[in-house]
Formats: sequence, C-alpha cells, structure tokens
Amino acid sequence: MRIVSVVGTRPQLIKAAALLPALHGRHSDVFVDTGQHWDEQMAGVFFRELDLPRPDHSLGVGGGSQAQQTAGMLAGLEPILLAERPDAVLVYGDTNSTLAGALAAAKLGLPVAHVEAGLRSFDRSMPEEINRVVADHLSRWLFAPTPTAVANLASEGVRDGVHLVGDLMQDLAARASATIRDPAILRNIESELGDSGLALRPGGFLFATIHRAENRETARVRAWAALLSRVAAPGRPVILALHPGTRVVLERESVQLGPDVRVVDPLGYRSSLALQLHAAAVLTDSGGVQREAAWLGTPCLVLRGTTEWVEAVAESAGRMVVVGLDADRAATELEGLAPRDRSVSLAAQRASALALAPSGAAESIATALESPDA
Ligand code: UDP
Repeated sequence: MRIVSVVGTRPQLIKAAALLPALHGRHSDVFVDTGQHWDEQMAGVFFRELDLPRPDHSLGVGGGSQAQQTAGMLAGLEPILLAERPDAVLVYGDTNSTLAGALAAAKLGLPVAHVEAGLRSFDRSMPEEINRVVADHLSRWLFAPTPTAVANLASEGVRDGVHLVGDLMQDLAARASATIRDPAILRNIESELGDSGLALRPGGFLFATIHRAENRETARVRAWAALLSRVAAPGRPVILALHPGTRVVLERESVQLGPDVRVVDPLGYRSSLALQLHAAAVLTDSGGVQREAAWLGTPCLVLRGTTEWVEAVAESAGRMVVVGLDADRAATELEGLAPRDRSVSLAAQRASALALAPSGAAESIATALESPDA
C-alpha cells in the first residue's frame, strides 16, 4: 500500500517514530510534515533523536489562528495528495494537522487512517475534541488504543473499520526503557539543561509539563502556577519543562512562580521519559506524559478536570489522580502517593523493577493497512 503519513507536532513525530519502522518493507511511505511545530526544541531534536526520515514534503505552516493554520495546511496538502495518489492517508492524534490531513484526503476521495481514534473528552470547547471527532468520522481505518475508545466510536455509530490495536507510544517507550533505567542519565540531562544549576537526584524532584489550550487562559495559568508553587519545596523542586506556547502566556501575564519551581526548555524524548521515571511524581496536562508516567509506574497528578485515558487511571492502582487545578487536593494526593521521606527509595525501586513490554500497536496497524477494505 502507498501511504502518505501527515505529521506536524511533537507527539506526532514521536508516534510516527513508533510506527514507521513497522510500515517500512510492507508499505511505501511518503512522509509529510505540516510544520505545526517547527523549532529545534519541539521538532528538530525529535527528527535526530528518533531517526525520523527527512520529510518528503514540508509545508512550513506554523503559527497563526486555528483557522489560518488549518487553512494553510489544507491548501498545502491538496496538491501533494493529488500528485502522490496514495492508497491511504494516515493521520495521528488530535491536532490541526490531523484535521487538515483527514479533511484534505476525504475531499479528494482518498481513504483516511486515524491513529488514536475514538478518544473523547466530551468537551467540544477543546480544539482537540473537534479535530478528533471530525477525523474519526472521515476515516476508513480507525486505530483505537483502548476499549473505551472503541465504545466511544460505537456510541457514535462508528463500527466499521475499527481496530483495537493498543498504544503506539507504549511501543516506543518500551524500546527506550532500557536506556533510561540507570540514574546516571540524570547527569546527561543536567548538561542538556545547560547552566541551570540543577542537581537532579532520583526521587528528589517533581516533573511537570503544561501545554493544553485550556491551561493557557489567564485564570488557569494563575491556578496551575499556584499549584506548582505550593507542591514545590526546597530539596524537592518542580522541574517544569515548558512548552513555548505556554511560556508566552506565562510571560505575557507576568505570572510569578515560587522559587522552587524551575522552568526549563522542552527536552528530548529520552530525557523526558527519564525525568518521569526518576521523579518522585509527575504533574501534567499532557495525554502522552500521563500514559508514560503510568507505564513507568510513577505517581501522576493530571492537571485537568477530565481525561480521555480512563484506562490509565483505572489501571494505575490509585497512582494516577485527576486533580484539576486544585492546589490543596494536589498537595494532599502527593503526601499519600510520594511522601517526602520515602520518595528516594520508591524511585530507586521503580527504576530497578522497570520492565515495559510493547503493546504491539505498530505491528497491528501495519497489518491492518494491508487490507484495503479495512
Ligand atoms: N515530551 C518531550 N519533551 C518534553 C515534554 C514532553 O519529549 O519536554 C514528550 C513526552 O515524553 C511524550 C510527548 O512529548 O512522549 C507528549 O507530547 P505532548 O505533551 O506535547 O502532547 P500530548 O501527548 O498531550 O498530545
């Protein structure tokens, strides 16, 4: 099968890195980068670190409003799809690149394959929810990561072409897990962070990421800044790997963070995984980080009111808690999940017990795409 894969953001580069090796040899793959994330920290580093191929086509459509960005991608994708004439157009996740890829293909009558189909927050104020609903309803192959995603699709009347394949990101995390177990990796991360003066000890820090549109509204920025400042402590700082879009809002609104919240630039993939493994706990609004923390066994507070990854919460044995932006709740949960006096030994136990198996999603997707009728 001739497949055009459309990527554009950090998590899509990461998912493509998990899938492309399984596609190669069985399918011919044309790699298109919309450029939704374009800079070194959000894109360049992942091409190198994860051995991604150079894109066959780069649209360079970063920035702008939701509509401007999506429109630019649609206009850029149409001639490429017309020229490439693929048997399938593969899109990942829930970004504007997902929406544009699915829509451009469907308008040309080309079959769409959606990786991470069926996720729902049931909140249409989220741009991600709109993107994923539209992509699902345009797709011939719907690759669902969880049983809940399959059930969500069924409740919208979508049953044909649905494949429960597992989670691609687990496949990549499993591949990388042997390289992050040794806490000596923390020395490399200190160098990656430059002269930040941070001394990273296993269990001696909390790792945080924040990037969702909902958490970039002024009141919410103040709320999560207060939450992180509250849980950070001397001797157990919060390392906040800040998405550039979130940093802009933080600086524009002059929001102050406590002295033990250390803002750092976004990290590469392996460093992000390693910080999650060796942290006392993870605090995040990211879907990917949330699941990675679960696979690594690290306690995780989800800084949103809801999550699409209900299985991750249900299967975490209480280690993953959706706390929203409630600072009191976050502090109380952390006392239970990552007590200060035990976090060093808990982190060491976690690292030595780490045995993460792949989900098999990459192979299942590559196999399902061999059948043109889904
Ligand atoms: N990630 C990374 N560097 C960072 C923060 C996150 O490599 O500084 C990785 C993280 O380990 C996960 C992915 O980015 O693999 C998650 O992407 P993101 O949080 O941007 O999007 P989401 O998963 O919410 O769609």
